[in-house]
Amino acid sequence: MSLATQYVDEQPQTDLEGKTIVVTGASRGIGRSIAEELGTRGGNIAVNYRSSEGKATDVVSRIEQEDGDAIAVQGDVADFEAMQTMADHVHDEFGAVDVLVNNAGITMDHSFERMTPEEWESVVNINLTGVFNATKAFYDDIKEADEGRIINISSLIGEQGNVGQANYAAAKAGVHGLTMTLAKELAPTGATANCVSPGFTETDMFTDVPEHIQENIREDIPLSRFAQPEDIAALVRFLASEESGYITGQVLPVSGGQNL
Ligand code: NAP
Repeated sequence: MSLATQYVDEQPQTDLEGKTIVVTGASRGIGRSIAEELGTRGGNIAVNYRSSEGKATDVVSRIEQEDGDAIAVQGDVADFEAMQTMADHVHDEFGAVDVLVNNAGITMDHSFERMTPEEWESVVNINLTGVFNATKAFYDDIKEADEGRIINISSLIGEQGNVGQANYAAAKAGVHGLTMTLAKELAPTGATANCVSPGFTETDMFTDVPEHIQENIREDIPLSRFAQPEDIAALVRFLASEESGYITGQVLPVSGGQNL
C-alpha cells in the first residue's frame, strides 16, 4: 500500500466534525463534489446555488443520507447584499463559519476581439468579485475560528491564459492575488487562505468545449485524462482539515501534470 493510500485510509470519517462550511456554487459539478465530500466528514454544510434549487436540495439529501447536516442556501455571489443575507441564514442555522470554499464560477468564451463588455463584466463579477463578496460576508467568522480556512477554486487558466478566455483568465489570476493577500492579512489569526487550481475537469462547464478541442487538450495532459470533480474535492478536504494548518497563500494545481 502506498503512503498516500495509507494516509487516506487512516483519515477518520469525521475529521471535520462540528465545522461549519459554506461551499458556493455547490448544486453541480466540482462544488457539488466538494460539498458531499466535506459533508460526509462531519461538517455542517451550507450548499449555495444561484438558480438550481432542485439540484442543491439533492446535494443536501445526499449528505443527510450519510448522516451529515446540510442546508441549501440561494444567493448570487455577484450580489454583495445577497451574500450578507446568506450569511445571516447560515448563522441562524449553524452559527459561525469555519471554512469558506469559494467555488461558484462561469465561463463566457470569445476571442478578445469579439468579447463584449457584458461578457467581460459578467465573468469578472461572478468569478472575482463573487469571491470578494462571499469572503466579506464570512471574514469575521474565519478570523475568529480556531482553524479558519478560505479555499478558493481558481483555474490553471489563471496561471497560463487561454485563447477565448481573457475574461476568465483575468478573473482567476485576480483570485490568485486576492488569496495571497488574504493569507498575509489573516496570518496573525492563524487562519489560512489557499487556491486550488484545477485543470480541465469533467463538469457541465467543460462539456461546452467542442469535442475536437477536448482531444487536443487531452494530448497535453501528462496523465492522459481529464480531472473528475472528486480529484479536486480530495485536495479541498485536506485543506479544510486541521492538518493543512501550515500551508497558506499557495496556488495548488490539480491538473494531471498539465502545468509541468
Ligand atoms: P459548473 O458545473 O458549471 O457549476 C457551476 C456552479 O456554480 C453551479 O452550482 C452554479 O449554480 C454555480 N454558480 C454559477 N454562477 C453563480 C452565481 N452567480 N452565484 C452562485 N452560484 C453560481 O462548473 P464547475 O466546472 O463545477 O466549476 C466550478 C469551479 O471550478 C468554477 O469556479 C470554475 O471556474 C472552476 N474550474 C472548473 C474547471 C473545469 O474544467 N470544469 C477547471 C478549472 C476551474 P446553479 O446550478 O444554480 O447555476
